[in-house]
Amino acid sequence: MAAAAGFGSNTYRNGAHRSSLKADGKSLAANPSFKSSSSGASSSASSSFKSRSLQFRKSSPAALGGGNGAAKDSGGVLGRVRVAVRLRPRNAEELVADADFADCVELQPELKRLKLRKNNWDTDTYEFDEVFTEAASQKRVYEVVAKPVVESVLEGYNGTVMAYGQTGTGKTYTLGKLGEEDTAARGIMVRAMEDILGDISLETDSLSVSYLQLYMETIQDLLDPSNDNISIVEDPKTGDVSLPGASLVEVRDQQSFLELLRIGEAHRFAANTKLNTESSRSHAILMVNVKRYLKEKDPVLTMENGSNSHSAKTFKAPIIRKGKLVVVDLAGSERIDKSGSEGHTLEEAKSINLSLSALGKCINALAENSAHVPVRDSKLTRLLRDSFGGTARTSLVITIGPSPRHRGETMSTIMFGQRAMKVENMLKLKEEFDYKSLSRRLELQLDKLIAEHERQQKASDDEIERIQAESEMRIAETERKYADALEKERMKYQKEYMESIKKIEEQLVGDQRKHDSDSATVAHNDSYSNGEASATSEILKLHKLLEDESRQKEKLEGDIALLQSQLFQLSFDADERRRQLDRAGSGNDPNDLDCLTSQVKNSQLSDSENGEKASVAKLFEQVGLHKILSLLEADDADVRIHAVKVVANLAAEEANQQKIVETGGLMSLLNLLRSSDDETIHRVAAGAIANLAMNETNQELIMAQGGIRLLSTTAANAGDPQTLRMVAGAIANLCGNDKLQTMLRGEGGIKALLGMVHCGHPDVLAQVARGIANFAKCESRSSAQGTKTGRSLLIEDGALPWIVQNANNEASAIRRHIELSLCHLAQHEVNAKDMISGGALWELVRISRDCSREDIRTLARRSLASSSTFKAELRRLRMDY
Ligand code: ADP
Ligand code: MG
Repeated sequence: MAAAAGFGSNTYRNGAHRSSLKADGKSLAANPSFKSSSSGASSSASSSFKSRSLQFRKSSPAALGGGNGAAKDSGGVLGRVRVAVRLRPRNAEELVADADFADCVELQPELKRLKLRKNNWDTDTYEFDEVFTEAASQKRVYEVVAKPVVESVLEGYNGTVMAYGQTGTGKTYTLGKLGEEDTAARGIMVRAMEDILGDISLETDSLSVSYLQLYMETIQDLLDPSNDNISIVEDPKTGDVSLPGASLVEVRDQQSFLELLRIGEAHRFAANTKLNTESSRSHAILMVNVKRYLKEKDPVLTMENGSNSHSAKTFKAPIIRKGKLVVVDLAGSERIDKSGSEGHTLEEAKSINLSLSALGKCINALAENSAHVPVRDSKLTRLLRDSFGGTARTSLVITIGPSPRHRGETMSTIMFGQRAMKVENMLKLKEEFDYKSLSRRLELQLDKLIAEHERQQKASDDEIERIQAESEMRIAETERKYADALEKERMKYQKEYMESIKKIEEQLVGDQRKHDSDSATVAHNDSYSNGEASATSEILKLHKLLEDESRQKEKLEGDIALLQSQLFQLSFDADERRRQLDRAGSGNDPNDLDCLTSQVKNSQLSDSENGEKASVAKLFEQVGLHKILSLLEADDADVRIHAVKVVANLAAEEANQQKIVETGGLMSLLNLLRSSDDETIHRVAAGAIANLAMNETNQELIMAQGGIRLLSTTAANAGDPQTLRMVAGAIANLCGNDKLQTMLRGEGGIKALLGMVHCGHPDVLAQVARGIANFAKCESRSSAQGTKTGRSLLIEDGALPWIVQNANNEASAIRRHIELSLCHLAQHEVNAKDMISGGALWELVRISRDCSREDIRTLARRSLASSSTFKAELRRLRMDY
């Protein structure tokens, strides 16, 4: 209890005479960090105020606002309400009135202590988080009291800066001074806004303010005075308090903010005038809302550059942090009864200060850790529920005057401050996911993607269309090329085919000409050179020839009839003479041969002398065959000729043939061919042999007697086509014998036949053709029976070219035989190759199509169809068969 030295005996400084440095041990104990200093932008004097060495309710090491981790720490960190005391300098009145008195307080700023003089000898000492002397600059007050709160707000916490004190002690000066004339005088609001504007990004963050006045439990909008009954809305879930009715003005710069403060101040003045009160009776509340978007490390939407998985990872709602700074310029804390002069009733007075006393009660309850905090008792406590005992960082500046006259009020203020220092808040980061923004961004991105997709779809459609067009073009081109190639190929084959046809035609024409020229030597001087006219004339000539021959035949028949009648006469005469001789009894055998000779001779010599009744048959019966045959060897050439003619005539009758042969007539005829040089004899004998050769037995006999060789020689020496005709006819008959094929060929029969064609006489050719046809028919038969293998002997002996040449001979007799020959040859595959190479196939095809005889056509067709070689060749020639 030592007297405080230096305070003098001035009793004005009243108060309990208590031990000094009572120091409200609780306060000291509750503020263990007061003396701990921390580095910071502010001076060391403010270090305790800014201290972050807070007590942690949880073991989280995160410092206040030290990182995003705080957002996830639902428990938050402890943050005690910080309290500074500010002493106003003596004002003019005090300088005069209190001139003789010492101040009621003594500050020890270095110790953050305040000594309140109780009386001349006793003081109470209080410690605060900061003690500002009357010389403290506005700047330092801001930095110590408000700046840490502002920083927290910028980090996403709620913050409160509040001034409490007796009217006239400098609350408004500390908080609301605009400092328009003197920059150094700017108060906390202005400086706070400067810091906020300097920190946020106007592009991404948002900043808005409301400015309100609370008077007699009514909230007025200082930015819109007509709005004078604003209600408080509390979120039942979070307990967050908001004033949806209050104007919320976006702030973009300091000037506009200053303007808002000026407007607010003017309205506050006007309102108080209207209400007949003073501004000191009302509470002014500035609310600054800072909404910040957390800077993301990853770009959120990377669809255009990245993969889907990457973008999916970054598709999370952005985080926004909403810090709210509340600056509260409270009504004067002096007791209402003291001021009294305002003429309010007690009830009114109670109402005027209801909020302030409610605040005191709440702080008391909080300081004492009371179970019940009467937050709902007033609008002020409802508005400030987050500032005391809530989640905000709160700084309180208590303002006091130096005058000992107001020692009681000062004391009361100090006690308020002391109690407020015990209030613990639980700071919580006001962080949330911005789903709206995410949704907006997603919508935006979706639109982008839709647009992009549409573009890509269009591009893809265009590409498909292009490819399709290109493909179609290529297909068309390929088809065109293919068609060209096909047409080319077709033309080539057509050309080849036409050339082949032309060649064949040329060959045919050539052959025809050759044949015609051959014919010309036999028939008449003729020219086949010119088309149809020549053909017609040729036909006419042939007709004429035929007529000539008919006439010749008729003449011959006449001759024969005459000869027969002569013979008849002769034989009659001879009989008569024999009878006469018999009657005369000469007894000598007449020389029958001589007799016959004379008869024959006579008949020849006296052609037209006698009757015509006699026939050769009669002669044959009367004279006897062997007598006639003997005449064939007569010395007289005429007799031989007549005799052979008679034999030939006899041989023409089938009934006589056997007898003639049995009597040795065949041998005689063959001998005539061998021995005679006379062509007439040759011709007639060959004719007779030909007749006899119709019989199979005779054929064998003829062959056995070397008939082929004889006939060949005869043909070789013949000059008369009729001789050749006879010889050819004989051989042709022999050709029809199955058994004699090999022999006939071996003896040169085929060659002999072919040798005769050079004469070109149609009759000869017809016989040759008949022979070949016979031969071919027999070969065909024996091939079918399997008795013959290998290719046709006709082909072997070179008959094919002539056959082909005459296959379309104008003479139907020739043509028919050759057509049949070709059909027979064609029936054997073994002949096919030669037939093709020899041009026979064409003839066969022609026959199969054009032949007037249906049976031959059918035969030709069947022959063609039965040969695979022919069929292959026809295919090769692209001939449809
Ligand atoms: P309150 O708002 O608490 O009623 P004011 O801020 O209106 O008090 O201050 C009353 C007067 O004191 C004003 O004229 C103001 O300029 C002056 N004043 C207050 N504090 C200081 C100070 N620290 N330095 C200089 N003048 C001050
Ligand atoms: Mg004021």
